[in-house]
Amino acid sequence: MSRLIKVLVVGAGPAGLLAAGSAARMGASVRLVERNSSPGAKLLITGKGRCNISNTASVKEFVQAFAPDGRFLYRAFSRFFREDLIEVLEDNGVQVKVERGGRLFPAGDKAADVLAALLSWTKRAGVELRTGSRCTGLLMRESTLAGIKITGGTIEADRVILATGGASYPRTGSTGDGYGLAASVGHTVAVPTPSLVPLVAQERFVRDLEGISLRNVRATAILNGHASASETGEMVFTADGLSGPIILTLSRLVVPHLAAGEDVVISIDLKPAIPEQELEQRLIREMIGRQTIKSYLRTLLPARLVPVFMMLCKLDADKMISHVSAEERRGLMHQLKDLRFVISSVRPLDEAIVTAGGIPTKEIDPLTMESRLLPGLYFAGEVIDIDGPTGGYNLQAAFSTGWLAGMSAAST
Ligand SMILES: Cc1cc2nc3c(=O)[nH]c(=O)nc-3n(C[C@H](O)[C@H](O)[C@H](O)COP(=O)(O)OP(=O)(O)OC[C@H]3O[C@@H](n4cnc5c(N)ncnc54)[C@H](O)[C@@H]3O)c2cc1C
Repeated sequence: MSRLIKVLVVGAGPAGLLAAGSAARMGASVRLVERNSSPGAKLLITGKGRCNISNTASVKEFVQAFAPDGRFLYRAFSRFFREDLIEVLEDNGVQVKVERGGRLFPAGDKAADVLAALLSWTKRAGVELRTGSRCTGLLMRESTLAGIKITGGTIEADRVILATGGASYPRTGSTGDGYGLAASVGHTVAVPTPSLVPLVAQERFVRDLEGISLRNVRATAILNGHASASETGEMVFTADGLSGPIILTLSRLVVPHLAAGEDVVISIDLKPAIPEQELEQRLIREMIGRQTIKSYLRTLLPARLVPVFMMLCKLDADKMISHVSAEERRGLMHQLKDLRFVISSVRPLDEAIVTAGGIPTKEIDPLTMESRLLPGLYFAGEVIDIDGPTGGYNLQAAFSTGWLAGMSAAST
């Protein structure tokens, strides 16, 4: 009779849960070790508590979204993708719905439902979950992996899967432990940096805009004077800059340029559906009669943006719109189409949605997620040096790599 393979998974986030469940379904004896008193702390805050689990994009589009290292994920996505995830969730009582931009959410809008479904799936597969146990080291016997060290003891295992996450939002338990664990057996670690992170703007007036959320606007990243990429959708002003889905997506592009000391400007088009000439005609048509510029601007902009516009356009609030000169009107139109923010930095890693950097993909076999340096050691999820855009890409990558690592680790 063949011996039962003992698989130990470190970290009960989305990657670890899928790794544990898939290994157990392959017939392995699986222990899932989590440092927190309960699993999935980060999963619970994803998508503002609604959990954007995946996206309707194709495997090819997913691979492109994770450029330049997207090819590394091809096998993982091919073996376990959106439909497989939906099946696991539906089998465990959670229906899934599609929203704008192909984003997938649980039908009840609750990340807690997703976590409960994954926990029930792993439990039914026979996974033994041990919370409140922090992995502090890898257990080596001669030069062979033999398990892990935890505070106050050791746990023996044939295979170990590190699914410890990145280093952002450390209060959720993802403090970057996996980097040190991997480094202890010879892996290198690409410096963890923030990705999908709010941007800090130089303009002092952003402070007055904190909390204003704008829908259907277009943000363009201008790098060293060249418009490089645009995103249309929702953004929000923070106490010192810009955030929200379209800004977070652009931040992936912006971070390396800021680090290289290049000039970064974000231009906001507040009326992206109206071409400049049409907008000018509209302003000419509408800016007549007895109305102050202040009250007219309120028909075009959120109220708290109005004083900022008047300041930028050097307009007197009580000026009648019919007295606004052609030059002033063009200035107004210009600000509506091209409201600029000079970006000085990004918020710290603690506040990033995902971590760029981590265990380099070249040190991991993409067909199995096994370490190329230490047989029996596997990686899954954000601990790997991969990061994708907003829209459910990062969770799907965690689920897919987790599933593949679990399957591979449980195979003889
Ligand atoms: C605010 C926010 C919103 C997000 N929203 C979305 C979204 O809607 N859609 C999307 O696709 N992505 C989203 N993300 C990104 C997504 O949450 C992560 O990419 C994903 O959680 C990574 O999964 P993981 O399992 O690799 O790591 P994690 O979820 O970080 O899980 C790692 C687990 O390992 C545990 N651990 C760490 N070290 C040890 C140790 N030494 N011993 C034992 N256990 C340990 C941690 O406590 C944690 O539970 C969001 C992230 C944040 C911060």
